[in-house]
Parts: sequence; structure tokens; C-alpha cells
Amino acid sequence: MNYPRKRILFYSVLAGLFTILLLVFIGLDSSGYQLRGSSPTPALILHQSDAPIVDSPSQAPVEVSSFVLDKPAPSLEITPAPPLLEEPNLPAASTVTLDTYVPAPVLAAIPSAASEVKGAVQSPTRPTPLPPKISIPVLNYHSVTIDPGNVVVISPTKLEEQLTYLHDHGYTPVTLSTFISLIEGKSVEAAPEKPVLLTFDDGYIDNYEQAMPLLAKYAFPATLFISPGTSDQEGYLNWEQIKKLQEAGWDIQPHGMTHPHLPQLSADQQAYEILEARKQIEEKLGTKADVYCYPYGEYNKTTLKLLKDHGFRYAFTIEQGFATNQQSPFLLKRLFINGEEGLKSFIRKLSTHD
Ligand SMILES: [Zn+2]
Repeated sequence: MNYPRKRILFYSVLAGLFTILLLVFIGLDSSGYQLRGSSPTPALILHQSDAPIVDSPSQAPVEVSSFVLDKPAPSLEITPAPPLLEEPNLPAASTVTLDTYVPAPVLAAIPSAASEVKGAVQSPTRPTPLPPKISIPVLNYHSVTIDPGNVVVISPTKLEEQLTYLHDHGYTPVTLSTFISLIEGKSVEAAPEKPVLLTFDDGYIDNYEQAMPLLAKYAFPATLFISPGTSDQEGYLNWEQIKKLQEAGWDIQPHGMTHPHLPQLSADQQAYEILEARKQIEEKLGTKADVYCYPYGEYNKTTLKLLKDHGFRYAFTIEQGFATNQQSPFLLKRLFINGEEGLKSFIRKLSTHD
């Protein structure tokens, strides 16, 4: 090895280094890099620009720009990869879910993300809104004859006066099945604007002799609650008359076999009173008799369970008020018609909504 050879080697290495340096400069310039600024590690910059972008998404472009400017001076060992010049692949606010790393307080500061997550969490537990309230007056009559001083008896004249009032003031007495459809919010053909249900309790013979012809005058239907055990007794309807009422558009439903005080009976006795009455009506008349009416308005837990377990659809009480779809189907209210009261009282009852 002689001196010129060493010299050639030295200049070659120098030229090589110079060439590499030149190539690096040319490469950086075409990539848009500039040599300036401090030199924190790229990993740290990514971490720092990470949080603010999630914190306030609207500032994301600014952060990306500063990230580029803060790029450290490259050394010979680092070759800038094209992906680093693109927008960091951070979760956008709209894709933030509870499963991301974003802590709850940060999430709360993002209105769109917070509302989205809030909605996603709440929607399955959102309470179902109540259906619109449906109220229908159910009038509660008993005997129709002349018996001054007896509040459960209305004279035929007074009954006619009331029926005329209903007719003249746009009320439409409906059948029991129409009443059920209306209270259940089902579409009813030519649904009346002012429906009313006329009910008669106990099955007095005057319902056939007095009420039936008066209602027939206006073609008004009615619902009759009978105790089949009384059908042979004086003053009460027999099956022949009951059938005539049914043919005239009256719905016949059970009121216990013997008009008992149900809460005073055992479960078995209650079951007999309720189920035997339904059975006899269905067998004699060939219709469904699954709407009950409590004798004396009395019931207890056993009564309610029996009605439910045996497929009754509704039951009427003597609680005062309109029947509504927000009442228990086994505790529908009615309006007691006091035979001693005048027409004004009748009108007031009809116009006092629940
Ligand atoms: Zn009764």
C-alpha cells in the first residue's frame, strides 16, 4: 500500500459521503420536508397530538399541520415514510363508542359523541309512552219502574227523558263489543263521536217490560248483567225474556249466580258463582259471556285472580267515573244513575270527565 492509493481511498470515501448527503437533501426537498425546529421523538408527538384531536375535533387540521412542522430533523438512519405525512388515523368523533379508549369526561366534552353514546345507552330502556287516554261514560241502571224514594229504581218517564237527551245531544249508545273495540283503541267503522254504554244490573223483569221498548224507540243497544240463579224468581227475567232482549240488541253478561257478596265466599264458592253464571249464559244464549260485573261492586284478590285465570276480558265496578283505557280492565268505572235525581244531575254526570 503506498501513499497515492491511500489518498484515492480517502477521496473516494469523501465523495461517497458527499453523494449520500446530497441525495438525502434532494430526497427531503421533493418530499416537502424542511430542516428546522426541535427534535422530540415522533412517538411523543403522536401522543401529544392525539389527545387534543379527540378533545376538540374541529381543531384536527391545525394539529396535523403543526405536527408536520415539528417534524424532527432527519438523520441518515431515518427515512421518512409517506404515511406519516398523512392525517393521523385517529378515531373521528362520530365513530367514538364506549369501547374506545376515550375517557368519560373527555367524551362528555364532545357534544356529538356524547349525545350519540347517550342515545345508544338510553334507547333500549326508554319507557314506552302511554297511549292517548280514551274515556267512555258507562251508565249504571237497575230497575225501571215506579218506586218513589228508591234510588236504584228509575221511573220509565225519567228514563225516556234521559234517552231523549242522549239522542238529541249527539250521544251514541254502543254495543258491548263496540265499547271494547273503542276502549282498546281499535278502528271502528263509523266510530261515534260521543259513545256511551248503557248497562242494567240484576235482570229485573221491568227491563223487559219497560226499558226494552223505550230503548227500541231509538234503536239503542244495552248491556244486561244477570244472575242466572234468580231467573225463576218473581220480579226477575226468565230465559225467554232474556232471549228477547238479546234479539233486541242487548248483550247479556254474568253478575254471579246468586248475586253474592263475593269477598265473603271461599275461592271455590267464588269460582262457582263466577264460572257457572258464565256457563249458563253461554249455553242458553250461544254467545260469549266473558265480561263480568261485581254484585254490590264487591271483589277481593281471589275474585280478580279467578277472572284473570279464567279468561275474562273486562269487569265493571260501581266506582264512580268514566271507564278509561288507563284503568285495570277488571276495574272499569261506571256512573250510577240515581232514580231520584233530575235531568240536570244526569247531564252533569255525563259532562264530568275523568
Ligand atoms: Zn247487582
